[in-house]
Amino acid sequence: MSRRPAADLEAGLKRLHLPTIRRIASEMFAQAEKESWTYRELLEQLVAEEVAHRCETRIARAVRKAGFPFLKTIEQFDFTFQTSVKLKALGRFLGPELVEEGRGAVLLGRPGRGKTHLAIAIAYRAIQNGYEARFETAVALLGRLHKAQAAGRLDEVLAEYVDPEVLVIDELGYLTYGPDAANFLFPLVDQRYLKRRPILITSNKDPGDWGKVLHDPDLAEAIVDRLLERGEVIRLSGKSYRQPAAESAEHALSAT
Ligand code: ADP
Ligand code: MG
Repeated sequence: MSRRPAADLEAGLKRLHLPTIRRIASEMFAQAEKESWTYRELLEQLVAEEVAHRCETRIARAVRKAGFPFLKTIEQFDFTFQTSVKLKALGRFLGPELVEEGRGAVLLGRPGRGKTHLAIAIAYRAIQNGYEARFETAVALLGRLHKAQAAGRLDEVLAEYVDPEVLVIDELGYLTYGPDAANFLFPLVDQRYLKRRPILITSNKDPGDWGKVLHDPDLAEAIVDRLLERGEVIRLSGKSYRQPAAESAEHALSAT
């Protein structure tokens, strides 16, 4: 007797694409009975579980798609170590206004100051806020765009970097790029600028010096203008976070 409705329920939940409810239903019915939940409480609980699970799945998928080299959150950033930046000042990059208002940022500083960590943390927050993000190093990005043009696929590959709501370009200025670097970076920055989509760039060089790195001072200026019209420069100074670990590793070695 009791098997038919259960099978119908299973089939119905499958058809409605409610896999979490399908998975937990019998367990939850038992709990509801034991704890005398109202029908309303039971329904609320089932729906809440489905929503929470979908949310987790979406975030996990978006993080994979973003291509972060590592995942670090804002909660994992030690603001007492890196005192040159305040959590409060980062607030406007951590809410939906990052995307809604198209606020970009250029994170500047020497190696180990936490630029990449913060850029990833901001992009991860955007993912949690329901958006998509994409991470690429400047070398990989310019290399891909260069190759795409040679293959006649520039627009297609550019779209990959224009479409996500948040784009992180890591380590601009660490290497000197090909002579055509600015010609690729400019259309990308310009297209995102016109769509009011934020870019987060990490760099060890002041935007004023990007002309040299990109072999084209005029285009570099046009790039920086667009980035900073709605964006901000965040300077990270202080000590390198990498050094304490490196130092203790050295101590450990010399002790043996
Ligand atoms: P950068 O990009 O400036 O060279 P990273 O962001 O890669 O530096 O930081 C180097 C390492 O140190 C990473 O593992 C990062 O998570 C960690 N790190 C840097 N600054 C901090 C900080 N203030 N709090 C916690 N971890 C930090
Ligand atoms: Mg870095």
